[in-house]
Amino acid sequence: MTDLVAYCRFSGAALEALAGQLDAIDRLGAGGFRVSCERSRQGLCLSLSAADWRRLALAKARIAGEIRRMPGCANLALAWAGDGDPERLGHVQRWHVSRASQVTPHLRRISFAVEDAAFYAGDLHHVRLLLPQRHGGVFAYPKPCPAGLPVWPEGELMPVLRNYTIRSVRTELGEVDVDFVLHEPAGPATAWARDCRPGDEIGALGPIGQPISHAPLRILAGDETALPTILRQIEECRPGEAIDAYVALADDAERQEVALPEACRLHWLRYGDLVDALQARPCGEGDGVFAYSGTELATSQRLKSVFGGDLGLPRGQFRCVAYWRAQGAIAP
Ligand SMILES: Cc1cc2nc3c(=O)[nH]c(=O)nc-3n(C[C@H](O)[C@H](O)[C@H](O)COP(=O)(O)OP(=O)(O)OC[C@H]3O[C@@H](n4cnc5c(N)ncnc54)[C@H](O)[C@@H]3O)c2cc1C
Repeated sequence: MTDLVAYCRFSGAALEALAGQLDAIDRLGAGGFRVSCERSRQGLCLSLSAADWRRLALAKARIAGEIRRMPGCANLALAWAGDGDPERLGHVQRWHVSRASQVTPHLRRISFAVEDAAFYAGDLHHVRLLLPQRHGGVFAYPKPCPAGLPVWPEGELMPVLRNYTIRSVRTELGEVDVDFVLHEPAGPATAWARDCRPGDEIGALGPIGQPISHAPLRILAGDETALPTILRQIEECRPGEAIDAYVALADDAERQEVALPEACRLHWLRYGDLVDALQARPCGEGDGVFAYSGTELATSQRLKSVFGGDLGLPRGQFRCVAYWRAQGAIAP
């Protein structure tokens, strides 16, 4: 089967703004699509190719989003031509609840029937969920603008947006699982997960974020909210890779039974002990290490200095993500 191709031409001021960014743009292709830039007398042609319309839609949105974040490019006119459906965002899917189960006292697993489960089987683990503003309420799905980015509805139809992790993908059954931490006070996502019933619909935009690392050694750290990506990374650990994971819980009752591959270690800790445990970790593994954390904002900031300072990792070898904030929601 031949790939689908979308392209966008730039000239004049837009070309000038992009001229210094061509190497950065070339590096953006990942996770099921390719990107290339070609310069000619007419200007610059940026093209994307992907195996199907969903991956092409994801590529359009990711590349347009990255370009808009580049210096001087925030207002750049960008309109894709070529393949793809200009009326639908292929990377926004409708998910229907199949069933729910209680994994631990504060972790509820919701299994969803999704339109295209294989879309989520790669190295991008996160999605942005689209939820109704009120239990039982309705929301409208975003439509694409010419740049392939979502245009959101206004008022009561605007969905609540929250980031979550796809804990597992069962491609053959067309299902994915998401593990929701049931925290107090419950926000809209937690309340939805607590009360949802088979057949209920939500939307999912993505996958989003950065691909997981396949460094020979991954140091992973997090609380209950990062446990879904940590356990998925352990389950999907490839030959030649190793994982050293540190998970801080509010309560020992939140521990899960885990079948650990030989190359993986998992340390269960209490909140408050996470930063000290990582600070005390012997280091010196060198270039083949990548460290990742998903925690509350304040811990995330402390872990940044542990990874960059105590463990001596260079900037490109660690990432600390604030998964939630003790004082109010994080804007997605
Ligand atoms: C990349 C990424 C992946 C994530 N994956 C998951 C996942 O798989 N499972 C998961 O459960 N969460 C995950 N999270 C965290 C989740 O997005 C937040 O916890 C989110 O705030 C929950 O939304 P809410 O509507 O329930 O609460 P909000 O409306 O956001 O917040 C309501 C109140 O609850 C507090 N709060 C929010 N989260 C927590 C918490 N975890 N513990 C205690 N208090 C909290 C807030 O401070 C606020 O006061 C992820 C976050 C990111 C960035």
